[in-house]
Amino acid sequence: MDSFKALVIDRDETTRQQSVAIKTLAPADLMDGDVDVRVEFSTVNYKDGLAITGKMPVVRRFPMIPGVDLAGTVIASSNPDFNSGDAVILNGWGLGETHMGAYSQMARVNGDWLIPRPKDLTPAEAMAIGTAGYTAMLCVMALERHGVTPAGGPAVVTGASGGVGSVAVALLAALGYAVEAVTGRPDEAGYLTGLGAAAVVDRSELTGQPRMLGKERWASGIDAVGGAVLANVLSMTRTGGAIAACGNAAGMDLPTSVAPFILRGVALLGVDSVRAPRALRIAAWDRLARDLDRAKLAAMTRTIGFDDIVTAANDIVAGKVRGRLVVEIG
Ligand code: NDP
Repeated sequence: MDSFKALVIDRDETTRQQSVAIKTLAPADLMDGDVDVRVEFSTVNYKDGLAITGKMPVVRRFPMIPGVDLAGTVIASSNPDFNSGDAVILNGWGLGETHMGAYSQMARVNGDWLIPRPKDLTPAEAMAIGTAGYTAMLCVMALERHGVTPAGGPAVVTGASGGVGSVAVALLAALGYAVEAVTGRPDEAGYLTGLGAAAVVDRSELTGQPRMLGKERWASGIDAVGGAVLANVLSMTRTGGAIAACGNAAGMDLPTSVAPFILRGVALLGVDSVRAPRALRIAAWDRLARDLDRAKLAAMTRTIGFDDIVTAANDIVAGKVRGRLVVEIG
């Protein structure tokens, strides 16, 4: 590839204002890496929205091609593990933050970050899952490592109509959990029950001042939002329960007390997808290929074009995106 299209974020170092534009680049504009990939599909996650809008300092060097997830085909490799023609995916590892990312027809990356695309997933399906869905699976696996089972009682999912939340609802329901989906969009109740939620909880029930301990409601859960919502979830988690926390859509703070931990033995399990070890990633993707209902994945996914990325980034930060967005790059 002599030249290719990419979305580029730049910053005026005097005003510190970011600008975003579609540009034509050459391979020399990319950063070092031992594998070149023709990018076929990407996605828009909440973090991509933060990067493009500049709402949080996700981008750590300028200029930067944003996009934390890619699915594509290897076009050149000096890495012994990958050959031209291999179907690959990449999630995180600083892509779109410190290393030129996925909103580009070509990416040059470190082969250690790539994993083979599971055979049962098309590149578009892999990006419908994306970091959001892969993180939902990491949360499920964290709960399982803690000994959580569906028989223990209902599982709560916060930010349920978002990307992590939608995949978490579908996965937990398929595994047999009675899922209670927390949403600030009550008009999405039908969507959430369609994904398998047994009950829909209005987010406003969980945004008040958290009590030290509340009524015991859930045995387990996946939290994508943090803030007062997570603090309320913890205060309402049953004795011996566990909550996997991965997100901050409601904020970085956590206004809780030690009461749920020392009086009910509740466990808070942190999940970081960006630097998850390779073996755990491969295990999570294998589970996704096996356990995630493709019809439900299709029901939560909308496909957009390259020119729609910036609008989608603004929408996701504004909480207006339902489910998952796939970006057709190729
Ligand atoms: P989405 O924007 O798709 O979903 C977030 C959802 O959170 C929204 O759809 C909304 O759901 C809810 N929400 C939004 N604003 C608020 C608010 N102020 N208070 C309470 N709830 C709110 O984002 P993603 O699913 O892509 O990501 C979710 C979170 O997980 C993000 O914070 C993201 O950064 C984080 N994340 C972390 C990863 C990790 O490795 N730890 C990996 C991937 C994501 P509803 O309308 O249904 O209430």
